[in-house]
Amino acid sequence: MLLSVVVPCYNEEEAIPFFHEELKKVMEVFAQKYPEVTFEVLFVDDGSTDGTLTVIKDLRANDERIHFISFSRNFGKEAAIYAGLKNAKGDYVVMMDADLQDPPSLLPEMYEAVTAEGYDSAATRRTTRKGEPPVRSFFARCFYKIANKMSRTEIVDGARDYRIMSKKMAEAIVSMCEYNRFTKGIYGWVGFKTKWISYENVERVAGKTKWSFWKLLMYSIDGITAFSTTPLRLASFMGFFFTLLAFVMIVFIVVRKLVSGDPTPGWPSLACIVVFIGGVQLFCIGILGEYLTKTYLETKNRPIYIAKEEE
Ligand code: UDP
Ligand code: MG
Repeated sequence: MLLSVVVPCYNEEEAIPFFHEELKKVMEVFAQKYPEVTFEVLFVDDGSTDGTLTVIKDLRANDERIHFISFSRNFGKEAAIYAGLKNAKGDYVVMMDADLQDPPSLLPEMYEAVTAEGYDSAATRRTTRKGEPPVRSFFARCFYKIANKMSRTEIVDGARDYRIMSKKMAEAIVSMCEYNRFTKGIYGWVGFKTKWISYENVERVAGKTKWSFWKLLMYSIDGITAFSTTPLRLASFMGFFFTLLAFVMIVFIVVRKLVSGDPTPGWPSLACIVVFIGGVQLFCIGILGEYLTKTYLETKNRPIYIAKEEE
């Protein structure tokens, strides 16, 4: 039984040594409890600009279970996850962050779920957002609410990418070769029976988060457009609503003119209406543009990542 641990890393030279220590402890626990399991640790270096790759190579020199793929540049975590799943050879694959925010100590419980309890996958979610700026938590909550209203694919609030899955599920995810990848949605889309394990948020052990508020906002828009076409429909509905409104207003003005011959000019209100409708139109064109961009990028058929070095 081979268990692949996939670790996306982007500028994690400080965190990887801590991570490796923790992982070693868990591998020892496994050696005692589940002697049938052998490990493969696949680091995906997502074009790091610091010494991440050197740190990984040093680890590999002492431990032949460690493998790595190094990208030619930073392709983003989604690409790193894809590369990891594609190259993992294990009967089970587990995704884990390098910063120890995904506690390796949960691994035995997750392994138990997929082997003994008949699940295809065991995923984790954090119950709190401790240590996160309140504004970010607020917007994150809003995102999950909106995304789930708009999309039929379930996107679980607080879900981490930390999960173990069977080879079947990993293959299903790799078979989705779209360029615009939103893993949280992809996990939901492929289905499979998933056990959810909750834990309290842990702060990263070293280094800095790679996500700024702006990046998260852009990512959330990508997430919604990747798994929902509701915004397009919203644009149509708005168009329909305003056409109706305009019709009612025309009737109103004609009738008023006939009844009272009202000559009141009303320029300010007219200006407001023009600006408002103009705004709505631009907004709708923007929505169209979002989808067009995605279509454009997909049709280019570019590779999701480019590996420079692999061992
Ligand atoms: N990561 C990556 N490529 C990126 C950004 C992040 O592979 O472009 C990795 C990063 O090294 C870490 C994981 O994805 O192992 C999660 O990143 P981070 O801790 O910055 O995100 P957060 O936990 O704050 O959501
Ligand atoms: Mg993190």
